[in-house]
Amino acid sequence: MTLGADHDEPVHVAVVGSGPSGFYAAEALLRSEWNTRVTMIERLPTPYGLVRSGVAPDHQTLKSVILVYDRIARSEGFHYVGNVAVGRDISISELRANFHAVILAYGAQTDRRMGIPGEDIAGSYTATEFVGWYNGHPDYRDLDFDLSSPVAVIIGQGNVAADVCRILAKPIDDLRHSDIADHALEILAESKIEEIHVVGRRGPAQAKFTAKELRELGEIPNCIAEVHPDDCALNEASAAEIADRANAGALKNMKLFREFAEHTKSSNTGSTKGLRRIRFHFRLSPKAIIGNERVERVAFFRNRLHGPAFAQIAHPTSGVEEIDCGLVFRSIGYRGASLPGVPFDEARGVIPNEAGRVIDRGAYAHGLFVTGWIKRGPQGIIGTNRADSLETVESLIADLPALTRARKPGFKGLIALIEDRDVRPVDLAEWLVIDETETARGRAKDKPREKITRVEEMLALLSQRPQRPHVKQ
Ligand SMILES: Cc1cc2nc3c(=O)[nH]c(=O)nc-3n(C[C@H](O)[C@H](O)[C@H](O)COP(=O)(O)OP(=O)(O)OC[C@H]3O[C@@H](n4cnc5c(N)ncnc54)[C@H](O)[C@@H]3O)c2cc1C
Repeated sequence: MTLGADHDEPVHVAVVGSGPSGFYAAEALLRSEWNTRVTMIERLPTPYGLVRSGVAPDHQTLKSVILVYDRIARSEGFHYVGNVAVGRDISISELRANFHAVILAYGAQTDRRMGIPGEDIAGSYTATEFVGWYNGHPDYRDLDFDLSSPVAVIIGQGNVAADVCRILAKPIDDLRHSDIADHALEILAESKIEEIHVVGRRGPAQAKFTAKELRELGEIPNCIAEVHPDDCALNEASAAEIADRANAGALKNMKLFREFAEHTKSSNTGSTKGLRRIRFHFRLSPKAIIGNERVERVAFFRNRLHGPAFAQIAHPTSGVEEIDCGLVFRSIGYRGASLPGVPFDEARGVIPNEAGRVIDRGAYAHGLFVTGWIKRGPQGIIGTNRADSLETVESLIADLPALTRARKPGFKGLIALIEDRDVRPVDLAEWLVIDETETARGRAKDKPREKITRVEEMLALLSQRPQRPHVKQ
């Protein structure tokens, strides 16, 4: 028997993770000519992955993409199963037994390590922790950020580093009406930070910021963005890089850095009292984070760039530079984590695949697919995940004739399995209760929402409701 477009018997697909890649995969499946049922399994009660817990609170317009995901979630044939972690509450082999296909869309949840002395000393944080904390992610709710030092160093020059820098540098009143978590707002309101040093391993031409994010750093009220004029000098290969038309973003960044260098010259002569400063540094690689009980300074190797345009590598020289500071934020990239029963490329932190088909010891893992950050690594914007998920779903659909030779129970089978376990699944109607509560609490404070930041509090809110999701097929 093969199920398919001409058959009433549905094809059951489980999607693990409810971030952008999971939703775009669900959308493509539900739009296909096959009679598909999608069950999306999310480890938190709340959906939307990094759109909820990564995208900066002062970038609210970007979060409107949630309206698209909400529409997908309300589609016929879609089930949301929140508060169920794959690998903890249910195994991959159980999912594979109950669904015709499984798409892994669980993102990149950890951070890369620098592997230098002092990395974990008090006052040294990962961007992952800080971002999760100010965005109200339950995993980071109880972290303590001591912002009483006047100087912070951010290691890394990508968009996440730009977000961290903006949140630290912005006047608190500019954040009050965003969906930033209240616990973070309280601590940021007391922040004593005056200077933020943003340090990159290569030169200004290679900084990974998008020009939009970099420009925003130069437009923060009561804050001055600076670059030492000498740092804007480019070697021949870097000059060739920014002259390349396909690299227009780097040219825009260079123009902005040169503007910041002009500010630097004038701020050295005029009064900057009461202003915060953002200072960009280039060609520095972290050597050690130094301090007795907590961060006192960071030592960096001075680098020289070697190699042809677009393939320049930063080599440390014998020169060392130190920045005195009381806080460090390490923003050198997110990293995917492995899931029991799923092949994993430790070096790249991704699941090995070909066009979304998971590869296990040289062969396709029958019915197992991957998309999003856990497929390609932590790069790209929200929209990048759409094309990525379309590719994966195309592979899946091409394989369906071979995958649908037997009936599978799908969502019903999953619910039957977890019924006897100590698991409290959250369905779509229950997420909507959380959503309404958050937006109502936000309205009272003139915020788009006030997030509930503890899973226990979310579950307590739902405790009046039935304990199991309503099974509809
Ligand atoms: C700090 C930050 C800021 C960003 N800002 C922007 C921006 O301004 N604009 C933009 O376009 N892009 C931005 N991005 C990029 C964008 O967020 C990503 O491209 C996108 O979220 C990746 O989607 P994903 O579905 O692969 O992963 P995610 O969004 O991480 O979703 C993965 C989901 O899987 C769930 N999950 C994890 N493990 C399990 C498990 N075992 N079982 C079940 N569920 C699990 C997670 O809880 C999560 O909900 C930002 C990223 C970060 C980190």
